[in-house]
Amino acid sequence: MAFGDNTLQLEEPLLRVPYESMRKTFKSTQRHLERNIEQLRVGAQDLVNLTSNVPTSVATNATPDDSAMDVDYSGSEAAQALSQIDGMIGRVKGMKRKMSSLKSEHERNVSKARARIDFLSQLCDPTVQDVDSEKYKDWSRTRLNMLLVDYCLRNGQPNTAMRLASARGIEKLVDIEELQQCNEIERSLRTDHVISKCQAWCSENRQFLKKIRSNLEFQIKFQQYIELVRDGKPAEAIQYYRQNLIKNAETKFDLMMRASGLLAFRSSEDNEPYNDLYSPQRWDELADMFVQTFQELHGLPHRSLFLHYLATGITALKTHSCEVPTAEEVQQQQLAPPSLHQPFGRNHRVDLTRGYMCPVCSIELRNLAQPLPYALHHHSHLDADPVMLPNSRIYGKAKLDDYAKKAGIPPNKIVDPVTREIFDDFSATKVFPT
Ligand SMILES: [Zn+2]
Repeated sequence: MAFGDNTLQLEEPLLRVPYESMRKTFKSTQRHLERNIEQLRVGAQDLVNLTSNVPTSVATNATPDDSAMDVDYSGSEAAQALSQIDGMIGRVKGMKRKMSSLKSEHERNVSKARARIDFLSQLCDPTVQDVDSEKYKDWSRTRLNMLLVDYCLRNGQPNTAMRLASARGIEKLVDIEELQQCNEIERSLRTDHVISKCQAWCSENRQFLKKIRSNLEFQIKFQQYIELVRDGKPAEAIQYYRQNLIKNAETKFDLMMRASGLLAFRSSEDNEPYNDLYSPQRWDELADMFVQTFQELHGLPHRSLFLHYLATGITALKTHSCEVPTAEEVQQQQLAPPSLHQPFGRNHRVDLTRGYMCPVCSIELRNLAQPLPYALHHHSHLDADPVMLPNSRIYGKAKLDDYAKKAGIPPNKIVDPVTREIFDDFSATKVFPT
């Protein structure tokens, strides 16, 4: 397996999103063309029938061979024919407008897919041999920026996300339009308690919802009915029920029965059997259902990949020696409030606390590390250059030097990373374990 193959396997959503969008645009184009062409065909047939009834008169200067005849456009059939032609011209113009917008959408998706393929193919470059190569580091930095943009978009920070994407030139590598649309509709449900945007989205994607047998559109309409009852508009609620919900009576009989019963109980009263229908929590459930369906349609990951990678990284570093708080401590918020560490070297202070030297023990990450599993190390590892300190503890020399450098201790000194004792450099003895 070549270097980068494992990474490529993790990047499936990157190509899937434009692919799903292209598929959706293609289906939409196909449906639109089929519907319009059929209607134009029917219109053309009607036109033939109408014109066959229009009276004609032979032109006075026509030769006997000339089959052209003047058509009498004054009759009602002729007027109808002209109106039919106008209608057909209007339809063709509308079709042209729609096709042109679908074409732009398709080109946008193709350009996105191309940019993403180019980005992924950088991993196949022969100069990218391992994680230490410069090209791989550049690639990883771009990837990190993409993950951050995705995280910001999913967490309601679209301006930050777009500024970062624009500053790094990675707009085509992140799903800005899709995630923004998802956020907007989710917010309209969760915060504004309005169904119009979600309903419009459902109408636009009805074929997909039908294919996956989604309950979303019905639940949205059911919620609208509940809101009409809650607002004390029984007549409107009954009319809405007849227009939008009654057709589901066969498949959702129990729910429809409850919907009917809801009319008899006000939301302000303590209505035990109907509390769940009046509960505001239903809006959160609808928002969750919408987000899940939206992500399924576009092939988006359900959670931010940034969080997945962060959790994986913390787990890989987490050991039983780490100072991770217990779940109770996290819950009770007994930890000291986070504070920024003073960088070493600037204040000439030696900080050997685990909070600085170990990412998992740091104040910023240790709460996140709490629910994550420990790394599983099957094999013990011995550094190639072991030395013994005066306190009889053994470490790799290169690692000790690196640690001392990071800790900012004076030159020609080394420090025990566990006991935090400082020794002279020459006091470390080379050992040869057998
Ligand atoms: Zn630690």
